[in-house]
Amino acid sequence: LIPLGAGMSVILIGLVVWISRQHLSPQGALQLAIKRKAFVTHYQPIIELATGQCAGAEALVRWRQPDGSFVPPDMFIPLAERTGLIEPLTDLVIQRVVDDLASMLRREPSMHVAINIAACDMQSGRFLPVLSRALRGAGVAPTQVWLEATESGFMDVNAARATIDQARQAGHAIAIDDFGTGYSSLSLLQTLPLDALKIDKSFVDAIGTQAATSIVVPHIISMAHGLRFRIVAEGVETAAQEAYLREAGVQFVQGWLYSKALPLEAFLAFYKARNQR
Ligand code: C2E
Ligand code: CA
Ligand code: CA
Ligand code: CA
Repeated sequence: LIPLGAGMSVILIGLVVWISRQHLSPQGALQLAIKRKAFVTHYQPIIELATGQCAGAEALVRWRQPDGSFVPPDMFIPLAERTGLIEPLTDLVIQRVVDDLASMLRREPSMHVAINIAACDMQSGRFLPVLSRALRGAGVAPTQVWLEATESGFMDVNAARATIDQARQAGHAIAIDDFGTGYSSLSLLQTLPLDALKIDKSFVDAIGTQAATSIVVPHIISMAHGLRFRIVAEGVETAAQEAYLREAGVQFVQGWLYSKALPLEAFLAFYKARNQR
């Protein structure tokens, strides 16, 4: 059994109880939730180290339960990916993000929002027209929307390349997420026209420790610099980690040191407070 925190166990038990009350399979419950659009996105601020300002946010989806609690994505994204429900879910997330942030993005042209794209979506590129249509309708510049996919999304290089080319042509920046945790080869980075690299939290955790992983961190950073990628370090929790990343020339940071993922209103307030000029 995977050890879960108390909070997580309560959520999990709640979810199981709710699903069994509905006499639905987990897949049926997810399908119904998609039909009812029972999802919200929270926004985790991304900070630019040079200025200390909030440069934007990563959109992180949550399944809203009838009692007002939220199920975290790790508990339903894998199921959505296995059952093909990820496609309508990605569309919902896109629409939600655009609805939530359009007016903010129009007002703040230097702000961006990053959306997570599942591996199968990255391979098919099916979501791109949905995204374009939503942005056009809202008058938001595609350059303000970054797309994040993990290494598994880039494994089928030819399929991924077609999506990347199309997305970049539209104006989106593409980031490789959780970098270092997958099985991708370094040649993937040289082969594909990517824009940004997100250093996985496990590497940030290792900074300043004796862990073998810590040896790899400066190499990831210098390689990303060499490839002219923007770099975002994830899961930054301590001032010492921040100091190291700043010294190493990492441009963007994201983590609980600055803020957890916030509901829309709280994120907008965070952005305003942080960027007061
Ligand atoms: P991710 O893309 O790596 O997102 C970062 C996760 O780390 C988020 O968890 C975030 O809340 C958490 N995190 C951020 N900073 C810290 C920190 O300083 N300390 C700690 N301990 N954790 C931190 P979350 O929101 O539960 O999301 C989990 C994963 O679910 C995401 O990992 C992403 O792979 C997936 N996901 C989230 N939203 C979407 C979505 O809209 N579509 C798809 N396909 N996947 C999504
Ligand atoms: Ca991500
Ligand atoms: Ca990540
Ligand atoms: Ca992750």
